Amino acid sequence: SGAAVAAGVASHVLDVPDFPEPGVTFKDLTPLFADPDGFRHVIDAVVEHHGSDSFDVVAGIEARGFVIAAAVAYATGTGVVPVRKAGKLPRRTVSASYTLEYGTATLEVHEDAFHRGERVLVVDDVLATGGTAEATLQLVERAGGRVAGFSVLLELGFLHGRQRLAPRQVHALLTV
Ligand code: AMP
Repeated sequence: SGAAVAAGVASHVLDVPDFPEPGVTFKDLTPLFADPDGFRHVIDAVVEHHGSDSFDVVAGIEARGFVIAAAVAYATGTGVVPVRKAGKLPRRTVSASYTLEYGTATLEVHEDAFHRGERVLVVDDVLATGGTAEATLQLVERAGGRVAGFSVLLELGFLHGRQRLAPRQVHALLTV
C-alpha cells in the first residue's frame, strides 16, 4: 500500500543537519538505495503508480536520479536518458538554466535524446524547491519528448515545489 511504501522510505532516510551548508537538512537516501527490500519496494511503487504502458523512456536527474531511473527502466523494459549538469555530455545538447539561492545551475540532455513525442517518465530522489524539476521538464519538451509523469521518492512539502510545477502532477512516495 501507499502507506507501507511511505513508511519504508521514512525508515531509511537519514536527516543530516547543516549539509551542504548551515540551515539545510540534507535527506540522505543512500540507506534506502542500499537496502534490498526498501529499494525494490520504491521502484515497484513508482512503476505501479504510472503503469508500465504509460511511458517509453525514463529520464533520471544527475546523480541520484540515475539510480532510480535505471531500475525503473530495467523493470519496465524501457531505457534511460541522463539529465546531466552542464558540461558532462559529449555531444550537442539542449540546456535549461535555473536560479539557485546563490547563482544559477544548468542542466542538459543530448539534443537527440528523445524521439519526437516520446513519452518520458522523469524521476529524482528529492523534490525541494522544484527548480531542478522545472528545468528538467522544460528540457524534455524542448528536446522533443513529452512528459508522461514525474516521480520523486521524497517531497519536502514546506518548500512548495509542487505548486511551482503546477499544473503538472507530482508523484511523491513520501511527503514531509
Ligand atoms: P530543488 O531544485 O530545490 O527541488 O532541489 C532538488 C535537487 O537537489 C534534487 O536533485 C535533490 O537531490 C537535491 N536536494 C535538494 N534539497 C535536498 C535535501 N534537503 N536533501 C537531499 N537532496 C536535496
